[in-house]
Amino acid sequence: VTESLVDMVDLSVRAHRRKTALVFFGARTTYGELGDRIARAAEGLRRLGVSAGDRVALVLPNSPQHVVAFYAILRLGAIVVEHNPLYTPRELRHQFEDHGAQVAIVWDKTADVVAELPSDARPHHVVAVDLTDELPLGKRIALRLPLRAARESRSKLTARPRSRRILSWRKVVDGRRLARRHPRPKVSDIALLQYTSGTTGDPKGAILTHGNLRANALQGRAWVPGLQEGEETFYGVLPLFHAYGLTLCLTFAMSIGAKLVLFPTFDVDLVVAAARSDPPTFLPAVPPVYDALARSAAQGAIDLSTIRFAISGAMSLPLSTVRRWEETTGGLLVEGYGMTETSPVALGNPIGPARRPGTVGVPFPGTDIRVVRLDDPSAEVEPGERGELLIRGPQVFAGYWRRPEETAGTLLPGGWLRTGDVVTVSDDGFVTIVDRIKELIITGGYNVAPHEVEETLEAHPDVRAAAVVGLRRPDGSEQVAAAIEVAEGRVFDAAALRDFCRAHLADYKIPRRIVQMDELPRSLVGKILRREVRDRMAAARG
Ligand code: ATP
Ligand code: MG
Repeated sequence: VTESLVDMVDLSVRAHRRKTALVFFGARTTYGELGDRIARAAEGLRRLGVSAGDRVALVLPNSPQHVVAFYAILRLGAIVVEHNPLYTPRELRHQFEDHGAQVAIVWDKTADVVAELPSDARPHHVVAVDLTDELPLGKRIALRLPLRAARESRSKLTARPRSRRILSWRKVVDGRRLARRHPRPKVSDIALLQYTSGTTGDPKGAILTHGNLRANALQGRAWVPGLQEGEETFYGVLPLFHAYGLTLCLTFAMSIGAKLVLFPTFDVDLVVAAARSDPPTFLPAVPPVYDALARSAAQGAIDLSTIRFAISGAMSLPLSTVRRWEETTGGLLVEGYGMTETSPVALGNPIGPARRPGTVGVPFPGTDIRVVRLDDPSAEVEPGERGELLIRGPQVFAGYWRRPEETAGTLLPGGWLRTGDVVTVSDDGFVTIVDRIKELIITGGYNVAPHEVEETLEAHPDVRAAAVVGLRRPDGSEQVAAAIEVAEGRVFDAAALRDFCRAHLADYKIPRRIVQMDELPRSLVGKILRREVRDRMAAARG
């Protein structure tokens, strides 16, 4: 029986010892080696004082060390806390204060930042990982390339960690010989504190148990037809520090003995290079990734026909992306829906002819949904009407870390999770996402869903991407406003865009202000951060 994530990976380690588990810039780790490294790293962490129930922070890009550290922490019954390694010192401070991890395993380029956090946030031990230390010399240069861009976005970075508090992963953790037996974590134990993306407010630490994450990996298996144990090649272009990448790339791959090709950041050239030796069969990603790869395939740079199907989530999937991907690859691109609080996937389209583009499909196996009134979550809406989506299932989280009020407002009696998303459901049960409740714009008594206005604007040839927000007026009502990324070779013309909207939308939905932005603010998985757009526009207006 597989009870925990540790049991899941152990099964694959036993069944596929000689098969490749991880590929990173051509460096290969077999399942047998992975099992040994996890056991050694667990021992190294135990000696640093980590025991059951402790939080251990990971601040790492995708890498073999990330995978080893993840399972080594779980093996001790401890709790993984994932962080975006590009977070600023201020953001990291916030999260370290919140979870109080005493051991942090970090990318060496950010080790100083973590080691120099103020004392109320600073972990006792900082273990620095050199991502290049397993690579042959020629590949070290290749790795530097994608990380450079990331590095430049940080203000405070030094080439080499200087603080005396910093330990070496290689010496202290990964190099241990002795491997003790550890008690096995239980299904109900906490496995992960996963911070939400922070799209609508400060990121909240979602508590996910082994049972939650294991359930979602198994539901994923039931969803994706024809996967062959020990034969698949997953591409990990999504960050493992986000729930989507963690489950769809890592735990899912490990549960079926797949080969997981890890990318520290998404970069078309890296994917093209990797595909020559390890053609992908499964690629979970987000729309901008599919667009970039389809363009590359159309130019003949990469053969994507080995991917029988691809799944998209985290943000709405434009029909144009589906069309382009399916025409160039011959495979299917289907959309699912989820959130950190659901480990993360809760709904998905059937992978086959029954899928319905424009919808996020139907509930996952073992998952129930309800659609309730925005003003009263105890009352269901009439069939077909808009309402808030509620979800119940084995993947629904156990609450927010140290936020009892927000937990009580989100987890309703009976195990129902309030998603904060407005949806409609068709007669035959397919769900369409309308928008987030928090981002609906209230103007003159009407609700405007920004997504609908963005879709309209994006249908105009001058527009590459649009973000629609509500700007508060002195009288408390909101004004619909839009920020535009102009398409290549086109010119920004606010009046023309407004006329275009007028032809497609009711008057109250038409943006009163339209401005151009060189680049819209996006999260690391590529979600447009409307909150930031709104702040910028409000500041510009004064
Ligand atoms: P925060 O909760 O901190 O404000 P967040 O909700 O963006 O941030 P995540 O848990 O990463 O953090 O994202 C979940 C949200 O992503 C969902 O609630 C939904 O709004 C959006 N989402 C996920 N999948 C889709 C999809 N297929 N189409 C549209 N929106 C989606
Ligand atoms: Mg959320």
